[in-house]
Amino acid sequence: MRLSRYFMPVLKETPADAQIVSHRYMLRAGMIKQTAAGIYSWLPLGLKVLRNIERIVNEEQERAGHVPILMSTIQPADLWRESGRYDDYGEEMLRVRDRHDRDMLYGPTNEEAVTDIFRAHVNSYKDLPLTLYQIQWKFRDEIRPRFGVMRGREFFMKDGYNFDLTKEDALHAYNRHLVSYLRTYERMGLKAIPMRADGGPIGGDYTHEFLVLAETGESEVFYDAEVTDLTFGDREVDYDSVEECEAVLKEFTSRYARTDETHDEALFNEIPEERRRSARGIEVGQIFYFGTKYSESMGATVVNADQEQVPVHMGSHGIGVSRLLGAIIEASHDDKGIIWPEGVTPFHVGIVNLKQGDDEADAACDALYKAFVSAGLEPLYDDRKERAGGKFATMDLIGLPWRITVGPRGLKNGVVELTSRKTGESVEVAPEEAVAKVK
Ligand code: ATP
Ligand code: MG
Ligand code: MG
Ligand code: MG
Repeated sequence: MRLSRYFMPVLKETPADAQIVSHRYMLRAGMIKQTAAGIYSWLPLGLKVLRNIERIVNEEQERAGHVPILMSTIQPADLWRESGRYDDYGEEMLRVRDRHDRDMLYGPTNEEAVTDIFRAHVNSYKDLPLTLYQIQWKFRDEIRPRFGVMRGREFFMKDGYNFDLTKEDALHAYNRHLVSYLRTYERMGLKAIPMRADGGPIGGDYTHEFLVLAETGESEVFYDAEVTDLTFGDREVDYDSVEECEAVLKEFTSRYARTDETHDEALFNEIPEERRRSARGIEVGQIFYFGTKYSESMGATVVNADQEQVPVHMGSHGIGVSRLLGAIIEASHDDKGIIWPEGVTPFHVGIVNLKQGDDEADAACDALYKAFVSAGLEPLYDDRKERAGGKFATMDLIGLPWRITVGPRGLKNGVVELTSRKTGESVEVAPEEAVAKVK
């Protein structure tokens, strides 16, 4: 993409109403535009990162054997009356009425809707296990929308639902989700720690939240410092293996790590003092097992091997896809701007032409651009007639992992400058070498 043809409305001023760094940088980099409180439009740069995060979530869900669907955003109130949640859910639910006076709502979550799909089509234990998931917009009328996309009212969420014959099978699905979530967050360059959490309005005994440690996080968390050393890495896990998935759960959840809702001071004090930590965290996901709560109330049953009708065991599993943009920026930035992890970066490399209009510099930039494209990478070429300082500031703000600076002086010696956004280190290399390094 050439910047002169792109739409990236960078702001010079720091927006006054943005309290935290991720919100400030997303506005300044022209990634989002607020439509109304907690409701945003996604501008090209923001959309690219959103799509990258969505792609990683999709890939890891499909790898785990989960099946994608897309449910409607608008749901009939009657479904929620069946589960009993229509009245319970409260003011966070956006309720609307259609022209026939039917009560409808904009889905804040989809347990009822997915259970309705399941009961319409699945009748036998032979069709289990089944996990359906979607990545879809949700609406929750948050009392205090803030921090940009971190606590929006309209937000993008991955929500998955497992249907199993027995509790054991459903707990395997729970563990499978834990494994897939660990992989997902690491691919985005994030350390998200599973912590024991509270069931909340969805209910349930087994639940973990995934938290990214950050001072601006809204959750208070308590943990054993050893949990921050755990990484999943590139190990292979067989998602069908109950033992393998359970081993990962044990490894990642046996040390103390809890949100304030489930915090237990006595247990916490059993950790050696030098390892006790209390901090703030951003909730980027949550997994639940809630048994037959919805299947019983909504009649989602299957015939088992003994020809009996039994309610299925379920769980639901969410990832805050749009919130993740904020979380990643909170975890990865400096005073000049964002530092995108490779896995989610909107472009792989930025090309800065120091002397736009100079034949040699223009030709070198064009050649680099083509070389990156042939290598399967996406460059952003700043081809505007602007001062070098302004171009550098923009590149630093939008945080691409690499910047290549091309100018007549370097070209005389056959070199361009390659700069890492993360370390700030620059090296002078031949253009071909720059392409090879970024790859
Ligand atoms: P929170 O405690 O932050 O209100 P939640 O526990 O109500 O979140 P869940 O029902 O667990 O949210 O939804 C799954 C995920 O969706 C959360 O882990 C979070 O990452 C994301 N999410 C929830 N509410 C919002 C919101 N208002 N804006 C952006 N993302 C959200
Ligand atoms: Mg909430
Ligand atoms: Mg929560
Ligand atoms: Mg939650």
